[in-house]
Amino acid sequence: MKRDSIALHYGYDKTKGEGTMAVPIYQTTAYDFGSSEKAANLFALKELGPIYTRLNNPTTDVFEQRFAKYEGGVAAIATSSGMAAIFNSIVNVAKAGDNIVISDKLYGGTVTLCTHTLKRFGIEAKVFESDEASNLEELIDDKTKCILFESLSNPQISIPNIEKIVQIAKKRRVLTICDNTVASAALFNPINFGVDIVVHSTSKYTTGQGTALGGIIVERENLVELLKDNPRYKHFDEPDESYHGLVYNEVGLPPFTLRVRLALIRDIGCAPSPFNSWLLLQGLETLSIRMEKHSKNTLKVAKFLEAHPEVTNVSYPGLKNSTYHKKAEQYFRDGLCSGLLSFEVKSFEKAKKVIDSTKIFSVVVNIGDSKSIITHPASTTHQQLSEDELRNAGISPSLIRLSIGLEDSDDLIEDLSWALKQ
Ligand SMILES: *Cc1c(COP(=O)(O)O)cnc(C)c1O
Repeated sequence: MKRDSIALHYGYDKTKGEGTMAVPIYQTTAYDFGSSEKAANLFALKELGPIYTRLNNPTTDVFEQRFAKYEGGVAAIATSSGMAAIFNSIVNVAKAGDNIVISDKLYGGTVTLCTHTLKRFGIEAKVFESDEASNLEELIDDKTKCILFESLSNPQISIPNIEKIVQIAKKRRVLTICDNTVASAALFNPINFGVDIVVHSTSKYTTGQGTALGGIIVERENLVELLKDNPRYKHFDEPDESYHGLVYNEVGLPPFTLRVRLALIRDIGCAPSPFNSWLLLQGLETLSIRMEKHSKNTLKVAKFLEAHPEVTNVSYPGLKNSTYHKKAEQYFRDGLCSGLLSFEVKSFEKAKKVIDSTKIFSVVVNIGDSKSIITHPASTTHQQLSEDELRNAGISPSLIRLSIGLEDSDDLIEDLSWALKQ
């Protein structure tokens, strides 16, 4: 099956139920095993099947299988949010005393998770320069457990040198985790470029209409080759006392997502609701056509802004003069660059004026909705930072970020044109 067909059909067998075209919502917490023997087999992994919705659920299962296949992986585990997917991926390999190496351009929540919350867990985060990965290798030591980066970063809208990151990671046998939320699984598949683990906030483009919070972790084929006999990941080769001595590398199932499910989600929770999994399945079915329209609309808006006298700078990898244009053409399907763009006007006051004057754009801190969104990082998400800190984060006081939706691009351009005149 090709990708667009996978998004509609994979992982669901209509003939096994009532023949319903839509995947049923199994809104249940638990399952009747029928016999003590069947229950024991399920817990011992001798048979695979639902046990309790914190661990697995038939609706979520279809979403996981379909998303994994669509993203080019072999297994996936869905979580209650994108942050839960990122947290579980990191702590699946790193413990107190270890370190992780993270990109200098990451989503704000990921930055605070890595630099503040994980620090209290005893995990240190070292920051590498991501555009060229120039200092990545020197930061890796024996205690380094993963390299974390975003394929298209939010909010800087930059693209890292993924080939170089992967090449260094393979040489040093360190796990790579790529947050592919902004690029989306429709436009880019990091696993095809050698990445080990892909995470998403499915709350953004996957759900598509701003209706369901969710996250997912996708594992590449044959990850055992990295995890086995690797001193960094001994816990995958050793018996897990908490699961009657299970050795993850020897079960014969994809070990990374298996451990997240059996050890982490079991103990930490953050499982998705079956209803959200169903909403995310609806979103996935139309993801690729939506991403095409998001990208085409955004390029039109970016070109309009680039030519506007009140605009001093536009960041969008789809523009020919963008620093990231070459990488976008190399990595992203048909050179489509998703729906996020930022631009600067002449002053902080002007930025606020533009935001308050738009009519179609909503002032919201979200991205990936089918409705267009406008945000002013300096007065909202990054309000607490000093001017110096703002500059280091790549955010000027007059920066405006847009998440372009699925409206008619003429209406979006007319709205921005009017707002820029105010
Ligand atoms: C939104 C976002 C997250 C966090 O996801 P939630 O679903 O909101 O928890 C992580 N990474 C990126 C790139 C995001 O845009």
